[in-house]
Formats: sequence, structure tokens, C-alpha cells
Amino acid sequence: MLPSILDIATQNGVQINSKTLRYREVRAKCPFCNADVNQKHKFYLSLNQRDQVFKCWYCHERGGVFKFVSLLTGETEEEIKNRYSNTKSPYKPHPAEKLTLQQLQLLGYRAKPDWYALRKRDREYYIRTRDLVWDEWKQLIRIERNKAFQVLIVGIEFSMYQEAVSYIQSIEKKTSVSFLDFLLEVYSKSEWPIWAKEAKQFALNLNYKKHEGNPLSVLIMAQYILNTLSYQSEEELVAAQ
Ligand SMILES: [Zn+2]
Repeated sequence: MLPSILDIATQNGVQINSKTLRYREVRAKCPFCNADVNQKHKFYLSLNQRDQVFKCWYCHERGGVFKFVSLLTGETEEEIKNRYSNTKSPYKPHPAEKLTLQQLQLLGYRAKPDWYALRKRDREYYIRTRDLVWDEWKQLIRIERNKAFQVLIVGIEFSMYQEAVSYIQSIEKKTSVSFLDFLLEVYSKSEWPIWAKEAKQFALNLNYKKHEGNPLSVLIMAQYILNTLSYQSEEELVAAQ
């Protein structure tokens, strides 16, 4: 909304003809030409309260409220516009709100929540839902990252690098998150973080000789079984409560 031209005028000491305050066009002494300054009954400046514009009938200075402020204070119109538009900062969506439908489906959701409507209706519920979804997403990405790192390790260890890379790329496509560059960087470090050490331990301790198929498919099968087991135990936990 535009600032009120009448408020601007009074704040800057422009002398208003109080008899005209009830009209849409309020008259005032013109601070730009001062041609009416010594004439008691003359008020050359018109301030339009509906359109927030001004005009002097004597010197013909005219314009909108931003120009009016600019002429009175010496600020540029650009500065003034910025000041008035910054009073209401634009909404920055939480990262959970930026998750796509495809990403939400990986978490088991069928539709993308109407975040805007949720926020308007019940702010507390909106924050709870948003934080829950974001925690679930971070957990999923951690799991996918660990699995991808195991695949990378087995790929390097058993000279199946290209296949490992293709598999990691399929995870990237599924999640719309890039893993490969980050994982290669971790791999090349002299000291690994704990999750990376654990992933290596899991990946290399599988009994590859005992199983049929190439090491990568053995690993992926093992990951799948472990995943199913952890889901089961979670369901059991829920049932036990
Ligand atoms: Zn004037």
C-alpha cells in the first residue's frame, strides 16, 4: 500500500488548510515555490488523498507520493520505494516446502501438502508437520548416502567401478539429490567420518564367496534385506506401544 500523502505532508511541516481536510483534495502551502507563503488565504498545493498524488497550481510541481517524499527529504525515489517495500519482508519457504511430489512419495506421502493453506489455518500444526517431513527426508537421505557409499566401496574393491557409478546415478535420479561427487571426496580423504567407516565395515564384511552373483548385487540384496528388517522392527515398536 502507498504511504499517505497527507501524513507525509504533516510529518514534514507542510502547512495544511484545515478547512479542506474533509475533501479528497486537501489544500496546503506549497513548500516548493513558496508563492503562497505571504498570502493568508492562498494554498496552491493540492494533495489528493485517494490517489496519493500532489500538484501545485502555481509552480506546476506535481507527481506521486514517492516523488513528494523525495522532494521534501532529498532522498532518491528508489531509496524511498525500497524503504516502503522492505517493511514487509518476502516469505522464505522452509526447505521441506521445496520437496517435490516425487521426493515426498519416497517418504510414503501421496500428495504434496498445501503448505500455504496449512500455514494460514494453523501455524503450530504447520510447523509440526513441516519439521516432521524435513526430519524424515534428512533420515532418508542419510540412509541413501550410506548405501551409495557402500556401493562405491564395493565397486572400487572388486573393479566394478562403472557399474557402481551407474547404480549411484540411479539413486541420484530417484531422489533428485547428488551424491557421487561428495562421496568421492569423502573416499579420497585420509580420515573418514564415522558413518563412512561403518559403511565400509558393512560393505566389506559380507561373505561374497558364499553367495551367487557379482559382489554388487550381493551388496544391494543385503541392503534390501536390512532395510526390510529395520522397517519390521519399527512396526513392531509401534505395535508394542
Ligand atoms: Zn508551488
